[in-house]
Amino acid sequence: MSLAGRIGLFGGTFNPVHIGHLRVAEEALRQFALREVLFIPTGQPPHREVADGVPGELRYEMVKLAISGNPGLSVSRVELDRPGPAYTVDTIALLKQEHPEGVAYIVGADIFSQIEIWHDWQRLLTLCPFIVAPRPGVDLAVFRKPPFDRAEIHFLEMEPIALSSTEVRRRYRLGLPTKGLVPAAVDRFIREHGLYGARKTSPLE
Ligand code: ATP
Repeated sequence: MSLAGRIGLFGGTFNPVHIGHLRVAEEALRQFALREVLFIPTGQPPHREVADGVPGELRYEMVKLAISGNPGLSVSRVELDRPGPAYTVDTIALLKQEHPEGVAYIVGADIFSQIEIWHDWQRLLTLCPFIVAPRPGVDLAVFRKPPFDRAEIHFLEMEPIALSSTEVRRRYRLGLPTKGLVPAAVDRFIREHGLYGARKTSPLE
């Protein structure tokens, strides 16, 4: 089924948002002719603590900086403004109602392969189509077996990008070069706020 004209929902901790996230969003927009991609930063994620305790407001600000000037990308406060843990299944149901043109959920293969730990995952699987981004080390064959046979799954065609927020945080903490891993405006924000133990000035690249 064509996804053209739908809204791509891209949930994540975005701690911080990085070039891998942006490439996935841009490729989803282009390959499936989506109307737009909506980044949805989590407030308090249900399954884990946010590393370094970075508040949702700051992660939201970083996404805003990262997508500024890119008309196909936007950011939602829907999970930040809801108290307590926000479940993806509820967020999708809410946004599906708000967008009669339809939605599709964009997710990395690593996270999606663990669907069975998501709240109300059986309902989630059939709530909307999924756009799955490859991630190094994840065999896409798992998505051709149960329980994924119940879902409508579309695969992004791109080389897997070996980058994670964990690696970005590690590099800031250790004072290693970070050039090209996050947009320049996000790099400035991280250094100004001293997030992840970052120094004010970037090291010689
Ligand atoms: P962390 O290292 O802190 O776990 P992360 O880099 O996986 O973070 P998240 O904010 O948790 O980033 O991810 C949001 C979404 O983006 C998830 O669906 C995740 O699978 C996907 N994603 C993140 N990085 C990549 C990447 N390099 N390639 C494809 N998908 C990615």
